[in-house]
Amino acid sequence: CGIVAYAGVRAASPILLQGLRKLEYRGYDSAGIAIHRGSAIEIYKQEGKVANLVDSLGDYQNDLVHQQAHVGIAHTRWATHGPPTQANAHPHSAGDGRIALVHNGIIENYRSLKSKLEAQGHVFLSDTDSEVLAHLVDSHYEGDLFTALSAALKQVDGTYGVACICADEAGKLLVARRGSPIVIGLGDGETIVASDASAIISHTRQVIYLDDNDIAIVEEGKVDVRTLDAVPVQRDLASIDWSE
Ligand code: GLU
Repeated sequence: CGIVAYAGVRAASPILLQGLRKLEYRGYDSAGIAIHRGSAIEIYKQEGKVANLVDSLGDYQNDLVHQQAHVGIAHTRWATHGPPTQANAHPHSAGDGRIALVHNGIIENYRSLKSKLEAQGHVFLSDTDSEVLAHLVDSHYEGDLFTALSAALKQVDGTYGVACICADEAGKLLVARRGSPIVIGLGDGETIVASDASAIISHTRQVIYLDDNDIAIVEEGKVDVRTLDAVPVQRDLASIDWSE
């Protein structure tokens, strides 16, 4: 349903949580965030409201993990595959926490992909189509997240807006779209991504809209957009002038 992602100079968690609140009006049944710190990814997710998620984090603003994580992804879920539970909430991870991913949309061929991955030894913790995408990315990972994500997305039928991070690639997040919007906001020393510009405009009004089959490599204040075949593409910078 809703995606927010951040890479920049500030602590990621408060920006992700604020962004999720801005997307609440769209409706959702659960919420979660994944943050990257050092060489590890931490995932926090809850059934119910964003307020439940925030409560479960306690005094997170004074917690070193949250203070030192400057990259993260976040999601509000509107369940299509599997009931609204904590296990089915996003982010989903794979590869013993190496990959974390949030997904809007529906992976139509998730059943056949899932059986192949299970045969290779992948163990699934949720009923979602989205977790299959996380494992598919992990199955292709050989040291470069762009290569792994593009290989995975080429195998997928259906729709996606997706944001993905890798424990081994600090300072970076990837986003991609097909049939589900992704907007990238360019701030000062930071980049804020969302499925809906309303989660971005309190930070910046300079945005790039991804086209279908684009993948963007996002680092603090820097965006590199490519096709699924890694061909660099230029997407126009737009300025949002509507008010909050
Ligand atoms: N199909 C996914 C799920 O059920 C994503 C739903 C959404 O867009 O929030 O988890």
